[in-house]
Amino acid sequence: MREGLTVSEAQELILEATPILGAETMSATSAAGRVLAEPVVSARRHPPADCSAMDGYAVRRADLVGASAAAPRTLPVVYEVPAGGHGERPLEAGEAARIFTGAPLPPGADAVVMQEDTDHGAAQVEIRIEPAERAHVRNAGEDFQVGDQLIESGAVLGAAHLGVLASLGRSVVSVHQRPRVAILSGGDELVEPDRPADGGKIVSSNSYTLAAQCREIGADPVYLGIAEDTPESIEARMRAGLRADVLVSSAGVSVGDHDHVRSVLEKIGCQLRFWGVLMKPGYPLAFGVIEPTGQLVFGLPGNPVSTAVTFEEFVRPALRRMMGHRAIHRPVIRATLASSYKKKPGRLHFVRVSLAATESGVQATPTGNQSSGVLTSMIRGQGLAVVPLEADGVEAGAEVDVQVLDPGFFDSIGRGF
Ligand code: AMP
Ligand code: MG
Repeated sequence: MREGLTVSEAQELILEATPILGAETMSATSAAGRVLAEPVVSARRHPPADCSAMDGYAVRRADLVGASAAAPRTLPVVYEVPAGGHGERPLEAGEAARIFTGAPLPPGADAVVMQEDTDHGAAQVEIRIEPAERAHVRNAGEDFQVGDQLIESGAVLGAAHLGVLASLGRSVVSVHQRPRVAILSGGDELVEPDRPADGGKIVSSNSYTLAAQCREIGADPVYLGIAEDTPESIEARMRAGLRADVLVSSAGVSVGDHDHVRSVLEKIGCQLRFWGVLMKPGYPLAFGVIEPTGQLVFGLPGNPVSTAVTFEEFVRPALRRMMGHRAIHRPVIRATLASSYKKKPGRLHFVRVSLAATESGVQATPTGNQSSGVLTSMIRGQGLAVVPLEADGVEAGAEVDVQVLDPGFFDSIGRGF
């Protein structure tokens, strides 16, 4: 087992071991955000027939050569084509048909005159323009044709995709499955949030953070409760978690006398791939794979900020890959650091920063106390500024990479038009 990896080495080992989950079929109405597991090829054309894009009159252009407001032409209106209906018979030379938006163009007609260019006549109509070729006609198949590949496998389904699927007549789609993630907390000091936290007890918050981080990306968390600091208690709960695709435990993974997570993992058939990542927060992190089933196991550090940040950096990309996403990482922007940040070389630091868009770019301000126990720094932090491993800090006013965790930051720079 390797020890003391860089963040990118650790990410690489994790992603190498991460499978893409198989497909499941589901109702298109609930498939928003899911990743398509099959290419979508059109079995029909859309629009199905030439149809009118306006309320007006279907005509034959040859009858209206030279027509204008000064020299209008009058044509008999021989029938009406409502949306959802069809022309009674082909349009003959010298005839017009009343037509409405979305109604099929009658055979023989080759243009539509919008009603604003007429006198709105009922039995006959005065037409005041010479229509252009196929004016206001939506051609059959102009959106898509039979056999067109409309959506590629791996696309993330958004509202427009689901609309197109509906127009194809597809109410069921094949998408990648979502991983089930078993979440275990461990420590004799931990109690559930509804129990009194006194006499050295603290509330177990990590399971809540982790479950929410899973749900945020569409993974399915399963809570395994709190294990005591004994190998037996940890083993019993972990075995329950082996039915999930991924097991995430927090705490007990360090080198203290009461840290049994790593030895239990080995006992339950987990082949540990590495331990310890050169980062802050979050050095004590173990990653392994259960043999032979291939489930991933993450032993995250217990300090709440370390738990949240290591989930972000290692678990989240793996879960997104499992769900078929090709873009698995958070967006990274360049930002100016508002105040200086000192550190020792040797670890990559993820500094919680708030973000503000200014005229000269984005400004990132560290959120105060960066202790790995101060979880409120994550509430204030909209992003993580990345200070490289070998650096001894960043001067105020220098540029840094910032991983944006809070999509609300992008909303905050939106504006109406
Ligand atoms: P450990 O890795 O077990 O030494 O835990 C490191 C720190 O994280 C300790 O201060 C623990 O009390 C704290 N901690 C561990 N698990 C949790 C949890 N589920 N929720 C909140 N804090 C925790
Ligand atoms: Mg502990």
